[in-house]
Amino acid sequence: MLKVQGINVYYGAIHALKDLSIEVKQGEIVTLIGANGAGKSTLLKTLSGLLKPKTGSIEFLDKSITNQSVQSVVKQGLIHCPEGRRVFANMSVEENLELGAYLQNPSSLAADFERIYNTFPRLLERKKQQAGTLSGGEQQMLAMGRALMGHPKLLLLDEPSMGLAPLLVQDIFTIVKEVNAAGTTVLLVEQNAHQALKIAHRAYVLETGRVVLEGGAKELADSEEIKMAYLGH
Ligand code: ATP
Repeated sequence: MLKVQGINVYYGAIHALKDLSIEVKQGEIVTLIGANGAGKSTLLKTLSGLLKPKTGSIEFLDKSITNQSVQSVVKQGLIHCPEGRRVFANMSVEENLELGAYLQNPSSLAADFERIYNTFPRLLERKKQQAGTLSGGEQQMLAMGRALMGHPKLLLLDEPSMGLAPLLVQDIFTIVKEVNAAGTTVLLVEQNAHQALKIAHRAYVLETGRVVLEGGAKELADSEEIKMAYLGH
């Protein structure tokens, strides 16, 4: 579904992604793990068209999207749910969700709201509330709900569990699993490698802009190297 081959991405003189290649197959949850600054968010931003690779190629559903705009990439079904719960604080929950559907046929809006409110009943309870007044966990749900309003074929999720209380972290991972089971392929960036490897099929480990390890999620979770470096035991 997604094929990234040998991309190099720079911020000015900083070489953030180095000859990086990854693949995501239809139906998978693939997770990217790695320390702060390894390049995980940069990779997601490059896939969604926010950053352009200097060299290398990105194919999505057998078509090149290497230098396409964000809007064109979204239209093809690749949707990015960014780090840090970027919701529109002064708009209501409902208005935030509606923005996620801006490229959809207006006639499907009611059904889309229903689908999202079924997944996140808390958002239904708070639909008229200003997004800025929601708790951290609710804002994360809203950010995910907004991305799901756009019917992603591939959902890029950047740190969905960041800053959440342990119980909510569990809920978010359960929801990611459900979204995947309902047919959405997921590329998940997580600091919480332990939880991410539990729900993922495969994983890539990034260090300073390169893929240094890849494999089945279970196999990586059992590897001594990963346990030492990323799982804290
Ligand atoms: P984190 O979990 O902290 O977001 P990450 O693995 O997502 O880490 P990136 O944010 O992708 O890492 O950063 C990769 C590298 O690019 C780092 O060296 C970082 O300092 C650098 N970098 C990221 N954003 C910028 C920017 N806007 N300008 C300059 N350098 C940047």
